[in-house]
Amino acid sequence: MQLDPRTILIIWATINVMFAGVLALVGKQSEEIRGAKQWAWGDLLIGLSFALSSQVTSPAPFHVVLFASVGIGTGFGLLYNGIEAFRGKRCSYWIPVVLSIAMFSNNFAFAFLESEPRLRILINFVFFAGIHIACARALFVKVEAPLRTAYWIAGLSFSLIAVLCVARIVSLLFFTVDTVKMFSNTGVNPYVFFFASMAQMSMSLAFMLLINTALANRLIALAATDALTGLMNRRSLDQEITRQLANEKRHGECMSLMMIDVDHFKQINDQHGHLAGDEVLRRLAHLMQSVVRTNDYIARYGGEEFCILLPGTNEAQALILAERLRRLFNELVIEWDGDIVRGSISIGVADTLHDAHEAHSILSAADLALYMAKHQGRNRVIAFSAYGKHDVSVITAKS
Ligand code: GH3
Ligand code: MG
Ligand code: MG
Repeated sequence: MQLDPRTILIIWATINVMFAGVLALVGKQSEEIRGAKQWAWGDLLIGLSFALSSQVTSPAPFHVVLFASVGIGTGFGLLYNGIEAFRGKRCSYWIPVVLSIAMFSNNFAFAFLESEPRLRILINFVFFAGIHIACARALFVKVEAPLRTAYWIAGLSFSLIAVLCVARIVSLLFFTVDTVKMFSNTGVNPYVFFFASMAQMSMSLAFMLLINTALANRLIALAATDALTGLMNRRSLDQEITRQLANEKRHGECMSLMMIDVDHFKQINDQHGHLAGDEVLRRLAHLMQSVVRTNDYIARYGGEEFCILLPGTNEAQALILAERLRRLFNELVIEWDGDIVRGSISIGVADTLHDAHEAHSILSAADLALYMAKHQGRNRVIAFSAYGKHDVSVITAKS
C-alpha cells in the first residue's frame, strides 16, 4: 500500500474543518450541551494549521512553522477545554494559552539558535503527547452507560495519538533514520500519519456521539418527568409498576400503591388563583419526597392526583406512611401573595397481597379506595382491603 503523508495531511485538514463546521452547528442548536463550541474552534485551528503545513517545502519556512505549531497546540488545548466543558467543569482557558505560548517560544527560539530541527520537533511532540494524555485522562472517568462507550472511544483515540507522539519522540531521540523530515515517505512515517489521522477523526466522531447521547438522555428524562413538580409522570409510573410487579413475582415480595388526591382543589384555584394552586402541588410533591424512602417512586398521575409506589411494603406499613403524609399536609401552611393557603388530601391504599397482581388492578384498587375516602368526607386514608370485592362493586356501580 502506498501512503503519501502529504495527501493524508490534506485530507486530515479538510475533515477537521468539516467537523468544526458540524460541531459549531450542533453547539448552536443545543446550547444546553456545553463543549461543542470549544471543540469546533479546536478542530478549525488544527485543520487550518494542517492545511498550512501540507503546503510547506523542506526545510519549512520559519513563519509557517511558527503559525502551524501555535495553531495545532492551541487547537489541542481547546479540545481539552471542550471535554471539560462537556463534563460540566469550569473551562480553564489557561491551558490553550500556555500551550500556544510554549509552542511559540520553542519554535521561535530554535529558529535563531539552531538550524537542526530535531530538538525543536522533539519539544513540540512532548507538548502534544502531554495534552493528549491530559485529554485521555479527562475521558477515562466513571460515567453511566451509554455515555461511557462514547467517553471510551474518545479516550482511546486520544491515547493512540499520545502513543504515536511518544513513538515520534523516541525515534527522534534514538534513531538516525529519516525521521525528522515531516513528509518522509520512508519507514513508519506514512503509517504514523495514517493512524494519527484516523484516531483524530474517531475523536471528533466520538465527541459527536457524546453530544448525541447526552441529548438523547435529556430527552428521555424530559419525557419521563412532570414539568411542574419534577416528579415522574404517569407514563413512567405505569412502566415502573409493570417492572416492579415482574420483580415481585421473581422475589415473592409484596408492594403497595398510594393514590393521593388534593381535596377541593378547584376551590383553592378559584379562591387563590391558579398559580397558588401550582404552588400547593409543588409543596405537596416536596412533602411526599421528604416522607418516602429512596427506593419508593412518586409520580404525578394527573392534575392534582399523585401516586406513590412502595416496593417491598405491605398495606399495613403503607397505611402508616399515608396517615403521616395526610397529617403533615393538613398541618402545612402555604403563604402565597399575602394569603394563607391550606388544604387536605385523601389517600387510597392498595397492595398486591389483596388481589391486585396486574398493573391496572393495583391502580384501580387504590383508585377505588381513594373514591371511598372522598365518599366518607375527604381528608382521610382508606385501604382497599377494608372493603370486600362485593362492597367495591357496589361502590363502582353507584359511581
Ligand atoms: P375533590 O375533593 O373531589 O377532589 O375536588 P377537586 O376540586 O379537587 O376536584 P376536581 O376534579 O373537581 O378539580 C380538580 C381541579 O384541578 C380542576 C383543575 O382545573 C385543577 N388542576 C388540574 N391540573 C392543575 C394544575 O396543574 N395546576 C392548577 N393550579 N390546577 C390544576
Ligand atoms: Mg381533588
Ligand atoms: Mg382529582
